[in-house]
Amino acid sequence: MNNRTQEKLEILADAAKYDVSCSSSGSKRKNTKDGLGNATGMGICHTYTQDGRCVSLLKILLTNHCIFDCAYCVSRRSNDVKRAAFTVQEVVDLTINFYKRNYIEGLFLSSGIFKDVDYTMERLVRIAKKLRLEHKFNGYIHLKAIPGASDELIHEAGLYADRLSVNLEIPSEMSLKKVAPEKDYASAFKPMNYLTETIQGHKEEKKTIRSTPNFAPGGQSTQLVIGATPENDKHILELADGLYQDQKLKRVYYSGYIPISDDQRLPALRAAPLQRENRLYQADWLLRFYGFKVSEIVDEENPHLDPELDPKMGYALRHPEHFPIDINKADYEWILRIPGVGVKSAKKIIKARRFGRLRMEHLKKIGVIWKRAKYFLISADRDFIHLGFNPKVIRQEILYNGKPKKDPNQLDLFGNPLAPIPLIATTPQIKSV
Ligand code: SF4
Repeated sequence: MNNRTQEKLEILADAAKYDVSCSSSGSKRKNTKDGLGNATGMGICHTYTQDGRCVSLLKILLTNHCIFDCAYCVSRRSNDVKRAAFTVQEVVDLTINFYKRNYIEGLFLSSGIFKDVDYTMERLVRIAKKLRLEHKFNGYIHLKAIPGASDELIHEAGLYADRLSVNLEIPSEMSLKKVAPEKDYASAFKPMNYLTETIQGHKEEKKTIRSTPNFAPGGQSTQLVIGATPENDKHILELADGLYQDQKLKRVYYSGYIPISDDQRLPALRAAPLQRENRLYQADWLLRFYGFKVSEIVDEENPHLDPELDPKMGYALRHPEHFPIDINKADYEWILRIPGVGVKSAKKIIKARRFGRLRMEHLKKIGVIWKRAKYFLISADRDFIHLGFNPKVIRQEILYNGKPKKDPNQLDLFGNPLAPIPLIATTPQIKSV
């Protein structure tokens, strides 16, 4: 690699790190006889940096030149940063060289907007097309579908990429208008709608005509920037849920805003805590795999996720009326709602209880995280009556593990009759059941 390419790579890989919508998509494709590489459902890009960002793809921008001036973006027109642009051939060569050296398992390619939207999108498509047709590259390709691009280019992109993502970026159109006046939701939803319909159409067609070409087999995703604008978690989760329901998105990625600008258009200039990003991912998981509704996770009274507790625990503590759950009788859906019980454990519980009533030791073997689940269930050897259900006490136990470290609001044990009773006092009774 010559010095100039090396320099471009440094600039454009650095600029791409703010886009988090790049994990593996579940797309599967075997290598062909004369092909190069393969895309597998698992492991293609599941290496993450400590802050959760994916690193095993060649993740770059085609260029960080941009005609737009989005306040939250490092590549915005008015930002004084070093600029660079790859040629189509340079990205193709880098991908092939890195792939052959086993550095990467695929390509994640986004871009600032050169000249105009279609001009840029056309180059992204050309890269994917060259990789697939000229180099028979079978590795993973994730392309950015640029808001406002023509249907024809989006269609072509879908024929060569495993996954496409149209980033909404800012979680409400009102805020978007403030921080990126040149953008609007309509130009992001247009390619998103096109992809939703075409992906579905190709799937249907493939059922009857097997030779129907693949079209974005890994589906589409989007990214929301969290904390640059004032939307609360309830608003963000409702938006994400709508995207899952209506657009059939595979993933919504949440990217905690990293302050890279003191632009006065940005209402919130402190970094969004990583914890908030993490809690949103947990809540998103509950929506997609645990059958939760947004209104069960956040509501008018609690529009933000609890930063201290995961959202499933938060739900359980806010809804004592649903607990305890009898592990030997409850439906699968309710077993899933017990904190400390994951999808795998819930399925194992349903199978195992056909052979006898389950006790604590069985649940532990199954993989239930006992220290979290124990407050919310009844098993054959544990009668919940002995535990009681005091959300405040449980919260304290979970957060401080019964250690002397106190919640600043905790009442003094001897000085106030309303002080919570430590759970440890109930434990011997449990043992005797
Ligand atoms: S259009 Fe994209 S690359 Fe350009 S400034 Fe806005 S977010 Fe950044």
